[in-house]
Amino acid sequence: MKNHILRSFAITDYLTGLYNVRYFYRRFAEEFSRTRRYKFHLSSLMIDIDHFKDINDKYGHRIGDIALSKFAGLLKKHTRNSDVLARYGGEEFIMLLPQTSAQAAVAKAEALRVLIGKHRFSEFERKSRLTVSIGVSSYPTHNLKDKDDLITFADKALYKAKSMGRNIVVLYNSRM
Ligand code: GH3
Ligand code: MG
Ligand code: MG
Repeated sequence: MKNHILRSFAITDYLTGLYNVRYFYRRFAEEFSRTRRYKFHLSSLMIDIDHFKDINDKYGHRIGDIALSKFAGLLKKHTRNSDVLARYGGEEFIMLLPQTSAQAAVAKAEALRVLIGKHRFSEFERKSRLTVSIGVSSYPTHNLKDKDDLITFADKALYKAKSMGRNIVVLYNSRM
């Protein structure tokens, strides 16, 4: 197999075609050092589909897979070239937004939440929609002890969004 094909397999998630976590962490390290050196902003969105287990239970894992892949395509379509979108885990995705403030990141997350909520997934019968919860974190707004806190904080904000009832965007704060 050609080298560039092998390389693209190594950085790609097989189901969704998005970047995988390994590639994400490599880009994250690069983006974070650039951000610090030039005193930019850097934000991250942790995006998790609400009650996705119910979709599998209702329609089966295969339909679940197709929906996940379409969902990923929808996110990708609304991601800029300079942003990094990856599949973080099962039905969880991460978006890194270079040169984006906390406020702009929340606006972006809210736009994504609304457009996903409006999309009709043709795989499903009656309830043809999916909703997402999104946790947002931002540097230098949030006090990070190291770069990994950007991910930890987005995760904490996501957890809060779930506990608040889902289908919502939450910006991290230090009381979480
Ligand atoms: P919550 O709103 O709390 O996020 O509920 P949830 O059901 O989405 O979350 P939970 O973490 O309980 O379950 C995740 C579900 O996502 C269960 C798992 O079967 C499904 N899932 C994860 N990865 C895949 C996948 O690759 N394909 C399919 N079909 N389902 C997946
Ligand atoms: Mg979920
Ligand atoms: Mg999850």
